[in-house]
Amino acid sequence: MVDLNTPCMSKAAAPDDSLIDQFLESRGHETATWDQSYNKKQCPKCGGLHDVSATECSVCGWSP
Ligand SMILES: [Zn+2]
Repeated sequence: MVDLNTPCMSKAAAPDDSLIDQFLESRGHETATWDQSYNKKQCPKCGGLHDVSATECSVCGWSP
């Protein structure tokens, strides 16, 4: 058993990730990507909304 590498560790640090993971898994993606909200991109990390041309989150600095 290697506790340091269990998925629970990262999910515990960022509770919202579990919802994101479920969402991504349901779409067949394993890597993080923008959420879509109407015609906007939504940062999966902080939930900030951005124009579809955005390449990184101007709120928290996240990028796919
Ligand atoms: Zn963000």
